Amino acid sequence: MAAPGAAEQRWLREAQDFARRALPGPDGQEPAALEAVLRCLRSAGSGALPLGYSFISISDLQHQQRIPCCSHLTWSTNEFREWAHQGQGALPTQTTLPRTYLILVGCITDGRQENKEKLVDGCLYVKDNTGIIPCELLHFELEWLESLFLFPSWSYIPQTNQSAAGYLEILEDPVPVNVPKKVLHSIPATYPTSAEPLLTSRIPCRKRSKLTVAGELVRLGPLLCVRHKTFFFLFLKCFTSAVCVPVLVQEPSQLAWHHVLQLGHRYTITGLSISSLKKSGQKTFVTGVPSCLLPYCAEHVREQPLNSTWQGESTQSSSLETAEQLSGSLELGFEEERPRSTKESKIISYVGVVTKILNVQAGLFLLDNQVCLCLAYLPVLKSARGLRPGACVELIDVHLLQKPLVSFPFIVLGACLSSTVVLKRFSRLSTPYQPPTSSGNLCLQLLFRYHLGMPLYLWLVSLLETFEERFSCFFGRRRLLSCTHQNPGAAEKFLVPLLQAMVPDREKARDIYNEILAKVHHCPLQKYLTLDPPCQAPSLSAVCHVAQQKSWEGFSPSQLLSPLEAQHMGTQDLNRRLVWSYCTLSAGSFQPRLILLGVLRVSSRSSLLQLQDKSSTLPCVISQKDGSPFANTALIGSLLQVENYQLVVERFLQTDFPSWEHLENLEHVREKKTSVYVQFYFEDVQVLHAAEGQLQKGLRSENSSSLRKKKDDNVTPELEAPEAKVLKLEDPKSDTHRDENCQGGQSSTGTTSCVSHLFLVTQKEGLMLRNYQLPREEDGEGQELQRSFQATVLWLGRPQLWSHPREIGNLPELEDTSCDGEEGVTQQEALLLFMGKSLRWFPFLHQDGLYRFIVPCCSDLEVFDKLCFPPVPATFLTRPSCPLCLPVQDTWHLQHETWISCLPERQLATRMVLTGMDQRIFSIPEVLSSSFTGSLVSFSGEIVERTLCASPKNEKPSTTVRLPRQKGNLLASDHSVKLSVSVAPGSPVVVDIYITATYLQHLWGLLPGAKILFQNLERKISRFHNVYCTYIACSCVSIISLPASHLLFPSSPAGEASSPSLVFLSNLRPHLQNLPRARILCHLSCVLTVYLQWVCSLCSSIFKEGRCTRHNPPCPSHTGVRQASARVLVEDGTGEAVVLCRNEHVAAMLGLSLLEWEALQNCVQSRGSMSIQHGEATGTGCLEEPEDLVACYLRSLCRSPLICRPILLDFSLDRKPSKILQPAPLQLRNFRCAEVEFVSQVGPRLSLLCLNVEEVEQDALRYLNSERIRRTSSYC
Ligand SMILES: [Zn+2]
Ligand SMILES: [Zn+2]
Repeated sequence: MAAPGAAEQRWLREAQDFARRALPGPDGQEPAALEAVLRCLRSAGSGALPLGYSFISISDLQHQQRIPCCSHLTWSTNEFREWAHQGQGALPTQTTLPRTYLILVGCITDGRQENKEKLVDGCLYVKDNTGIIPCELLHFELEWLESLFLFPSWSYIPQTNQSAAGYLEILEDPVPVNVPKKVLHSIPATYPTSAEPLLTSRIPCRKRSKLTVAGELVRLGPLLCVRHKTFFFLFLKCFTSAVCVPVLVQEPSQLAWHHVLQLGHRYTITGLSISSLKKSGQKTFVTGVPSCLLPYCAEHVREQPLNSTWQGESTQSSSLETAEQLSGSLELGFEEERPRSTKESKIISYVGVVTKILNVQAGLFLLDNQVCLCLAYLPVLKSARGLRPGACVELIDVHLLQKPLVSFPFIVLGACLSSTVVLKRFSRLSTPYQPPTSSGNLCLQLLFRYHLGMPLYLWLVSLLETFEERFSCFFGRRRLLSCTHQNPGAAEKFLVPLLQAMVPDREKARDIYNEILAKVHHCPLQKYLTLDPPCQAPSLSAVCHVAQQKSWEGFSPSQLLSPLEAQHMGTQDLNRRLVWSYCTLSAGSFQPRLILLGVLRVSSRSSLLQLQDKSSTLPCVISQKDGSPFANTALIGSLLQVENYQLVVERFLQTDFPSWEHLENLEHVREKKTSVYVQFYFEDVQVLHAAEGQLQKGLRSENSSSLRKKKDDNVTPELEAPEAKVLKLEDPKSDTHRDENCQGGQSSTGTTSCVSHLFLVTQKEGLMLRNYQLPREEDGEGQELQRSFQATVLWLGRPQLWSHPREIGNLPELEDTSCDGEEGVTQQEALLLFMGKSLRWFPFLHQDGLYRFIVPCCSDLEVFDKLCFPPVPATFLTRPSCPLCLPVQDTWHLQHETWISCLPERQLATRMVLTGMDQRIFSIPEVLSSSFTGSLVSFSGEIVERTLCASPKNEKPSTTVRLPRQKGNLLASDHSVKLSVSVAPGSPVVVDIYITATYLQHLWGLLPGAKILFQNLERKISRFHNVYCTYIACSCVSIISLPASHLLFPSSPAGEASSPSLVFLSNLRPHLQNLPRARILCHLSCVLTVYLQWVCSLCSSIFKEGRCTRHNPPCPSHTGVRQASARVLVEDGTGEAVVLCRNEHVAAMLGLSLLEWEALQNCVQSRGSMSIQHGEATGTGCLEEPEDLVACYLRSLCRSPLICRPILLDFSLDRKPSKILQPAPLQLRNFRCAEVEFVSQVGPRLSLLCLNVEEVEQDALRYLNSERIRRTSSYC
């Protein structure tokens, strides 16, 4: 048959081709080599050539094979199947290695002939003429080196990352192509028992004498590389005793021994000398160039007695620490928890299968799905070749750590320098190979720099893993984790301070020789303490989740109301009070302490500053401790770390509680929502990674903003220290980074040049939907309302051309004018329109700030003029000075320069020109004063109280407060918020500011305790002549200071000041408008009215005998609320006032105990309501039956002289006094004193609101009276 012959010939032709290309040997000798290879193949295949297989060269393997594969020359399909099946044991879901039909022939080498010394690193390679590839063998003989082999069974594992080549796993012993020569010598050898004293004796070693030592290999140290020198230690034990000696192997040609040596086998090593280590002085045997490693063979070795000069004085033997052997059958139960006590790690041996690579950079592998193997403490974690999932490893003398880190789920086996890690079986699975990066491995660098124990190391690894996961998508892994000393990467900046805090006193450097050689084992893994991590830096989505959870933890609606208040509230009032609340969390509110990390971004959609990581974003509010607004545009894109912050969770509840009695029943909570944001000071920020090219600018802005003085201060900029000005105006010439906007080209100057224009913001308006129709836009699109904001600015100077963004100097526009003394900088007003992407500048643009627009990659100085257009069609334009509109383009960059108040003297000319623009900031008393005339006001103050109000049209009853909401806003749009703002904490002067919910979605950080600068509020006067302010479109707020931390958990919802000041009624007039709370010692002269009622909680109709009395339409309510009110007359000798009391204060005023009051109110329930009026002449509202006992009781109580008594009254001014009870100014009144009646002229009665009533004891009365007299006299 010709066919097989033809196939064979074709195959042979290919084989010849291959031999010519790949087989080693000088030209012309390939046929001989090929013959030998074919001979080998024939004998392996019992005479036949493997025609189904083809030869592969090393280079083809490396370049053509992309996935892991294996090849088994002689196996049948069934044999392969069984082999593959067995390998799946621990990982049944993984696929096995696919089989290829390839013949691999090559030399095994340790790299010594590659004429690169570097390559001799203890690794073995397979090479042919086309290339060289690392290989791993489970069994190796020294004679194999530099011989040609046929590999019958092997796997090729390419590297996951395509940039470097993979490696070979040699599954079966290679078959020598040529018959090897075997040489056996009979050599004299010394046994460890007699050799050991040489190492302990003090006799100086003779360098010349060489020794041969034979023994059993009991320990094999790892290959170490210190200062570019690779070496390892081995330990030979006497056959008959436990005495053993160390041998240092360091000749490059001998590093391959590491692959030969097998524990428990007997060896002879020749040519040893004794050397003492520099650092510790420990002595060890050292191999020399001519040293040989020979298998021990009793016949060939004869004992060599040591001559007398070698003899030491003592021959005492010492034994190695006996290791606890728990191989395989490791008990995996945890020890009972003994936190805070140092634990001793056990030393064990273990055989297991790698089931997962936990973190190859950190040297963490999971064995048998339950134990973590840590190889980090071996200084070289070189390749991790062979450690793929599915591989079986034997660990000898590793440390067992039960629970090194609270949050770490596995038991840890830590390999130290005296441990041995042996690969027992290669993986049969198609799992990839991830090589660890040897240089710049931050984990390992920090481990060695700080001598970390296992608990701290594992914690470090987990921090780093999270860090990398969160931020490598922004900055790239390499930049984030780089760890050069001059320029530490972000990860190092973050981790090093944490480690320094944990390892304050660094132990002395690790002595690895001592760790290996010392008789008593000493290493960093011996003792450990279970670590409770001191801090955490979880992803932002986790932060938000935990914060929300915490905000509802232990939350009950009753916390938001004082019970005294709540029991008299109708349904609507009650539920509205629950709608909006907040809680604040700090780093310490979390366990462990929570560190916030995030990239600062501005959302052009929401115009909010936010911290961002891969998982989520967190809105943030940044304030500056000097009170100036945050305007640092250079910080955008930087990675920030904040440890001192307030995480605010705003809670939004939809409830339908019928009354306060149901507050504990959470079924009435219909909906719970939260929004989370964080606020912090710029000064508390640490920049871990500055945005490209903006570091220098950032530092400069920081300086200038801290120089800003508040307007109220009398320090004028002229008085500032001159050094400060110089510092601020120094140009960062050293800025070497390129601006991000000009990434495109750098070769031609045309593309890198940019145009800038300086301006001053004179007014900024709020974000809202505006009806802008840009002239260049096609109609149709322009019809939609645009979310936008606008700012009125004053251009300063002319636009400037710069060859590169980094050339931009400091305010040369202002310098020019001061030089030539010309009047008036080119001053031109403009209205900037921010829409679309440019909305991102909203948080940075503030009134009185000097900013610059930078138009990147532009050289047209008229770029700004070209885009301007009149705000209204020219035909409607009446004012010639009307500012032109300029839509801000998406690509423009905004840069904050300084504040107008910070301009130094030499730029003062400009300052003078601009002072007119400088808006006045008033004080709260000025705003409240009746002589004030302005309608737009700006002032600063501290928020005392934040309450949610409903607009009047919304007061109609409904069972649930379910109202339409605007998108993105969790408050119903017809709600508004009332902020009570005072000059300073505890100050009686308070102004109320109303902000509707529409504006609130852009206003964050308006919390009680925060000091806020309000700008351009509208000042209004109520019908009761009270002054208040409203937030309008052109208003804006900036946070001057965050709430103090003690205010973060408001204990009582009311939160009033402790003891109000004692005043006289006559003193009250001057501050009529603004007294939140004061106290008088007064005499209750008479009770004018008392009104008790039982009202429906829904519709406020009278509630009688358990149901609502409203019939048309019928009211479904089953809940009534008790309400009481009274008006009493008091006088304190200087004046008279009507006091309105409500609910529980009525009882106090009438002097009733709680029980009596309860009984009285219960009596009202059957009647619905009851009223008593002084004199009872008109009889209005008197519904009582003549024989009504309760009414009689109440009436006699009110008329009783006993009720007229001294009381201490806390009150506020009634801002909405009833007109009926308000007498006209200056009226004549009758007074009766005993028998005498007289008429006197009195001023108008004050109308007061009772806040608290206290009885006065006699002693206290005497004291208070004397106090009054003292103060009255001091008045005169
Ligand atoms: Zn150890
Ligand atoms: Zn009703």
